[in-house]
Amino acid sequence: MQKLKGQRALVTGASSGIGKAVALELGRAGADVLVNYRSGDDMANEVAAQIASFGVRALVHRADVSKEADVVPMFERMAAELGGIDILVNNAGLQKDADFHDMTLDQWNTVISVNLTGQFLCSREAIRLFRRQGMRPEVSKAMGKIVCISSVHEVIPWAGHVNYAASKGGVMLMMKSIAQEYASQRIRVNSICPGAIRTPINAGAWDTEESYNALMRLVPYKRIGEPEDIGKAAVWLASDDSDYVTGASIFVDGGMLLYPGFENGG
Ligand code: NAD
Repeated sequence: MQKLKGQRALVTGASSGIGKAVALELGRAGADVLVNYRSGDDMANEVAAQIASFGVRALVHRADVSKEADVVPMFERMAAELGGIDILVNNAGLQKDADFHDMTLDQWNTVISVNLTGQFLCSREAIRLFRRQGMRPEVSKAMGKIVCISSVHEVIPWAGHVNYAASKGGVMLMMKSIAQEYASQRIRVNSICPGAIRTPINAGAWDTEESYNALMRLVPYKRIGEPEDIGKAAVWLASDDSDYVTGASIFVDGGMLLYPGFENGG
């Protein structure tokens, strides 16, 4: 059964990694999908072709989520060509790692502007569109759903990645505050907090046997996460199966938050 049949989804940063897997799973579940990307037309077109093979509509749209002048027209296109929006997945993100004492203002601003301001801009446009179109009881019990891709680093401090951890900590309270503000209008806002997932952003942490084994010291479940693990959680959060869930951070992390240093008694 296609749980998202008749719904329209926008996924940011959807030409690779987690965003790609989320876009594919939403399409498989019956949603029409706008694939946002910032660079690499071929990869975005390939994702859209795979989504279209599920018998739903797929669009590609190039936009930098940190720029208001890019984000507003992207949502206008969503309204014009897909007729509106039911699901936003705020996935686009990046890292600019540095020791804190060497971190430049540019490294700080780049990460905050994509990971946090980008989620603000897209969430605001989605909420405006949800409210403009109103309830669609034929497809969902909620007026709209936003899924923010955060990280275990919304709660785990991360030395050498202060800008990234600050951006994800910001996503946590932005998400919860938006959820609180719009719950009475039946708009649900939640986050998925991935642990270590096999994607380009963290290839150095898993692409050799040595780095993979070191990573497993942080993962009680003793396997790396796959992008599909996040895609399936996103479908659940976007569907009526999670209709009573809002303002929640769902950790999909193989137990990374379980103080792995204590797994043998500490
Ligand atoms: P990725 O590098 O494959 O994906 C990030 C995507 O965002 C890329 O397609 C990139 O082009 C896009 N992007 C970057 N800046 C953008 C911008 N300004 N506008 C539009 N798109 C932009 O890495 P990923 O692991 O798939 O990351 C996806 C999300 O998951 C990120 O928010 C990341 O912080 C989060 N995350 C990943 C992991 C992990 O282990 N891979 C863990 C926790 C959280």
